[in-house]
Amino acid sequence: MPYSSKESLDWVNKRWKEDAPCEACGKSDWGVSEGIALKVIATGNDVLSYAERTLPVVPVICKYCGNIRFLHEAIIGAGEVES
Ligand SMILES: [Zn+2]
Repeated sequence: MPYSSKESLDWVNKRWKEDAPCEACGKSDWGVSEGIALKVIATGNDVLSYAERTLPVVPVICKYCGNIRFLHEAIIGAGEVES
């Protein structure tokens, strides 16, 4: 079962460096969205393949500039947030 946005933010706050700055603007104000599935377009032999493959990710968004990082949902789901 995917984590909720709050559980994902707890995971980020636990695992990332304290006050991890956004590489685009330098601020440290992150929000977490619900998980999504990105469609994967693989390349092989110089031909794009549009096979139905997806990558489950959790978007982590800088609230100041909108920069987005994607975390693999399975990694977050596998992690335990220690109290
Ligand atoms: Zn930013």
